[in-house]
Amino acid sequence: MTTELILLGTAGAPMPVAGRGGISSALVVDKRVFVIDCGRGSPSAFIDAGLDFARLDAVFLTHLHADHTGDLPGMLLYPWGVRRGDHRPLPPIRVYGPSRPDALPMGDPPFERATTIHPEQPTPGTTDLVEKILAAYAYHLNVMPLDANMPDAGELVRAIDIPTPTSSGRAQLPVTVFEDAGLRVSAVAVTHGHAVPALAYRFDTADCCVVFSGDTTANDNLISLATGADVLVHSVADLGYLKRHGITGAALERMAGLHTDVTEVGGVARRAGVRELILTHYLPAEPEAIPNREWAKRGAKGFDGRTIAGSDGLRRALVR
Ligand SMILES: [Zn+2]
Repeated sequence: MTTELILLGTAGAPMPVAGRGGISSALVVDKRVFVIDCGRGSPSAFIDAGLDFARLDAVFLTHLHADHTGDLPGMLLYPWGVRRGDHRPLPPIRVYGPSRPDALPMGDPPFERATTIHPEQPTPGTTDLVEKILAAYAYHLNVMPLDANMPDAGELVRAIDIPTPTSSGRAQLPVTVFEDAGLRVSAVAVTHGHAVPALAYRFDTADCCVVFSGDTTANDNLISLATGADVLVHSVADLGYLKRHGITGAALERMAGLHTDVTEVGGVARRAGVRELILTHYLPAEPEAIPNREWAKRGAKGFDGRTIAGSDGLRRALVR
């Protein structure tokens, strides 16, 4: 068994920036590839990393904001042609992610919706999202096989909604998302503003344990999930930078309810007792805004383990 972590993209927020791909990570477990989030450019980053789309086993979505899901259609549709075994299509790519929330969040001043899009189902979950991707690309999926020898489109993807872990006053018990001989994946709910549900994932392999925070404020559920992990891949924001660049008042307060400030993330890693902290999902995302060495230095505050500022294409072979 071997396990390798690869950061495919490390930018936070939907706005494209030069020099960083949108948030996406891969975990290769004994040659099976698992992708966590499909931000901007993730299919290209996947192939740039030398990964094989025929070995793409499953995708895990932390939440359904566009910066985490925007290139899911490409991740499924571009490699369709290689999804074939010797005599039949490869098993479907599984897409795991949050279910529909119970209700559409209302919001309050100064941030309110002017319009509700798709009011008949305003907060689609992961299975809804994948179903709608297939519906939107039905032309491609129905017509391309008439001109090229394509695998059965009906075998391309299976979506699975993860039951929303419920929060009480105490830390949650993680939900087991799936488990087989080489891998167990579990999830807890984290706190990301009005984006409910938002999830963090823990991957336990024979070699190691890697936790992906998703987008969250400092969160006890995450700390509990990450306890004893070898690597914690954590999103970070620099709220002070944002303040100095015009995000103030209520807008800054909202931002603090969405993300973990870089000065807090070392404390999260220390409380979880992880060996290594790898930073990702930078806000600001522009590489020239804050140098990686500065992110790493500030992220390490309060943490005695190893802290790395992740960058696109970073690879880490993981062994105990
Ligand atoms: Zn995000």
